[in-house]
Amino acid sequence: MGIFSTVSKVVRRSKYFLLLLLSLSVLAWITNFSGETVKSILAPRATTQTFIRGDEMNSGTAEPDQSNTPIEKGECPQVSPLLKGAMNLSFASSLKLKDVESANKGVTEGEYEPSDCTSRQSVAILIPHRSREKHLLYLLHHLHPFLQRQQLHYAIYVIQQAGDATFNRAKLLNIGYLEALKDYGWECFIFHDVDLVPENDHNLYVCDKQPKHLVVGRNSTGYKLRYKGYFGGVTAMTREQFLQVNGFSNSYWGWGGEDDDLRVRVELQKMKILRPPADVARYTMVFHNRDSGNQINKYRMGLLSQTLQVWKKDGLNSCSYKTLSVERLPLYVNVTADIGKPQV
Ligand code: UDP
Ligand code: MN
Repeated sequence: MGIFSTVSKVVRRSKYFLLLLLSLSVLAWITNFSGETVKSILAPRATTQTFIRGDEMNSGTAEPDQSNTPIEKGECPQVSPLLKGAMNLSFASSLKLKDVESANKGVTEGEYEPSDCTSRQSVAILIPHRSREKHLLYLLHHLHPFLQRQQLHYAIYVIQQAGDATFNRAKLLNIGYLEALKDYGWECFIFHDVDLVPENDHNLYVCDKQPKHLVVGRNSTGYKLRYKGYFGGVTAMTREQFLQVNGFSNSYWGWGGEDDDLRVRVELQKMKILRPPADVARYTMVFHNRDSGNQINKYRMGLLSQTLQVWKKDGLNSCSYKTLSVERLPLYVNVTADIGKPQV
């Protein structure tokens, strides 16, 4: 009896001991796991908006990094050493998309970043488009190397209007802004007609303290400003400037008026339009006739007289559309949208 009772006591005790050990390890696992979870939520996420500036990078007293992490790049120089100035542009009818792709191997899904320095600005180029494939090809051919010579971090977005209802350039550009911001926190937006090709890479595709108009002259107007106050063709506004004016009006269907409306919005905000010097802000416009589906908008003057009353409720905050597809092609992001049709 005595020996049995001692044995059973030992067995019972070791049972308790095992149970205790088991619960302790479960407890330890739970604390460790939840700690990791909390840590991962609190840890700052590596957002695409993180921007390291050269002047910030060199400050601080940290020890030299002995690990294998790559050395941070410095900020790109104020003036890119790659600029070439005025260029003779070619528009060969034999040009193929494949040629443009192989000449721009550094571009991935329409996006490029210089490899040896950190760009001073991130820029989204927005191109409203329908049935102008040849113009798009010429523009991509010239614009990619042009932007790379400017050492920009950029991406090109082409916003296609689906269907054959009357064209609406302004609404497509609003859509481009909204869609591009889903990818990245672009600092600067360039609203760019498909048929205007810049002739001089000193015409910098960056934004300024005030909205910028980049087409001072084009071949088709004898390189003169179309008219005083013209704000069409190619314009540059920061993310904040464009938001401040509530973007473009969505109500201009057909040709004309939407660019003047944007100028009025800018002026209402007491902003001033800047232009680069006339000798660099030069463009070649690929010749075209007025497109079918983009007839002159006969309501444009009436709409323009209403801008002051409607700008707050007609713009980015009321831009309704349906994205039909977002294709990440080698040289651009192709956004196709159903934007509806005019009410009248
Ligand atoms: N656009 C287009 N397809 C059209 C109509 C217009 O792609 O059917 C786009 C294209 O980007 C074009 C811009 O809208 O450059 C402005 O239209 P357009 O070239 O007719 O204006 P203008 O030459 O008078 O500045
Ligand atoms: Mn044109």
